[in-house]
Formats: sequence, structure tokens, C-alpha cells
Amino acid sequence: MAAAVKADGYGHGLLWVARTLNADAFAVACIEEALILREAGVSRPILLLEGVFAAAELPLCAHHGLEIAIHHPEQVRMLETARLKRPLRVWLKIDTGMHRLGLEPETVPAMFQRLRDCPAVVLDMGLMSHLARADERDCKDTLRQLNVFETATNGLPGERSLANSAGVLGWPQTHFDWVRPGIMLYGVSPFVDSLASDESLQPVMTFHTRLISIKRLRRGEPIGYGGTWICPEDMDVGVAAVGYGDGYPRHAPSGTPVLVNGREASLVGRVSMDMITLDLRQHPEARIGDPVVLWGEGLPVERIAEAAGTIAYTLLCGVKARVRWEAVG
Ligand SMILES: *Cc1c(COP(=O)(O)O)cnc(C)c1O
Repeated sequence: MAAAVKADGYGHGLLWVARTLNADAFAVACIEEALILREAGVSRPILLLEGVFAAAELPLCAHHGLEIAIHHPEQVRMLETARLKRPLRVWLKIDTGMHRLGLEPETVPAMFQRLRDCPAVVLDMGLMSHLARADERDCKDTLRQLNVFETATNGLPGERSLANSAGVLGWPQTHFDWVRPGIMLYGVSPFVDSLASDESLQPVMTFHTRLISIKRLRRGEPIGYGGTWICPEDMDVGVAAVGYGDGYPRHAPSGTPVLVNGREASLVGRVSMDMITLDLRQHPEARIGDPVVLWGEGLPVERIAEAAGTIAYTLLCGVKARVRWEAVG
């Protein structure tokens, strides 16, 4: 299993994730992420999912024993002209239908042969592709991609890798030699139509803060920037110390759930940079200092993503460095 730890371990902290997860290998997006791992002493295989962006990165890859995806003929050419101290392990990345990165399937045998003949490349190459719609359970495109992958790699030696989290959980035929889960490792469902708990996953991140103010407001009084929410009656409104400057989504609308003392309350009014305002009508017990959970334990991040019109991936990746971290357990 190669754990996808790109984007700072999906916002959980790259090194914490790498040390906590017992993965056989790690997958990252760029050499900078790989170097952070190597410099911290991580010795497991590391795969650059997009390969190198420039030939100048190749000697560093060789020095640190990084494995690289080869998704474009230009990258094959870079390797053919490189003079490296140590040959690299490469993964041929094939475009089986996502049409983002990848070699055209019909060019795979020729590219494979060129890389075999290339002194900068070790003989044992991998073969990979990426699924575009595995999160949709009945989508025929996944089977189509599988078929293209099998045809393109048929008869070629080497380990094969196709599945992301949705492939791991929903499409066993896509597992091959290496799966590359990301989001599921952080306890989030990769599917459009399920929550983590439906997949027996537990959220790794709990994003929480505290109430820093409670005020009694009168019926008709507006709350926050733009006065977008008006108190429908005399009521208590709480302020929690979190905002888009911490990575809470600015577009979360009034009605988005939070937990106050472990029970649901609703966001009201606009999200500010450092604060959100909460309807405390159902929380007469609430006091300044009480805990507020934005997502995680007891409140699936998928629900917040849905309310804010985004996906859980962006919320996790978006938590800002100023948020204090504590590793629990
Ligand atoms: C990010 C990524 C993954 C992991 O995807 P999840 O949906 O988070 O499981 C796997 N493979 C590649 C090529 C990726 O870019």
C-alpha cells in the first residue's frame, strides 16, 4: 500500500502522517514533499505522482532514491539525456480515460522499450493509471478504464497500480499490486453518497475551538458582515474563535452544523476571518469557554463539505498553519 500524503498529508501534517501510518510506501505530488520526508529520515519508497517538473530534479531523485511517474514523452526524453549517479525506478503512468496526465495507451510498448534501454532507469518498472470516477458506484467508466489499463499493460512485466480510495473500497478488480489510498486513510469516505461511518472509517482530524462570547440579541437584530441573518426572536448568539483564516470555509451558509458541548448547533450569519456566529437557542447551558467542534469526531466533515458546496478533501487540505495541533492517541 502506497499512502497518498500529498498536500501536507491532506492537511494533517506530512511528517506526523508519515510517522503514524505504517505504509509500505508514500505517494506525493512533488519533489519538495518527498525531500521533507527524506530529510526527516523516512526511508520507505516515495513516489512522485507527477514525476519531475524539470530535468534538474532528476539528480536529486537519484540521490534520495525517489521513484517517479513518467506521464509524458517529454519526461522520457529528460531521462534519456540525463547522466545520473544511480538509475531511477520509474512508473509508466498511462492515460486510461481521465485525460489529465498519462501516456497514450498505444504508445506504452514503445515508451516501455525506450525506458528499458535507458541507463538512467532501473529495469524493474511499474505501470500505473488513475481513476476518474471510481467515487460513483455504478459508473461504467471505471470498468472502461480498467479494461484500457489491462490491455495497455498486457504482457509487460512490472508491478501495477490503479486504485485510489474509491477503488480500494468499491472496485476490488482495480487493486493489482499496489493500491494508492489517500482520503480514506484520514477517515473520510471517498464516495459521493456515503459518510465515513458507512465505510467503517473514523475521522482522524477533529477541528475544534471554543466559545469566546455569548450575547443576548433582540428580535430583528442582524448578525455579522452584511447582516445576512436576522434574529427571528430574542435569543442567545455565540461566537466561536475560528474563521476562514483558519481554514473554515467562508461559503458555509447559515444552518451549517457545529457541535457545542457535543450537541448540534447552527452557524448563523457570514463566516469571518477569525470568528463564526452560532444560534444558541437550543443550548441554554452554553458558557464562554465551552468546546465547539467544526468537524471530525461526532460531526462528519462530509456534512460540512456538502453544506459549503465543496468536498471534504478541500476542507482537510485547507486547515491553516496557525491552527494549533495536538496528536491524540
Ligand atoms: C491523490 C491521488 C491518490 C489518492 O486519492 P484519494 O482519492 O485521496 O484516495 C491516488 N493516486 C493518485 C495519482 C493521486 O493523485
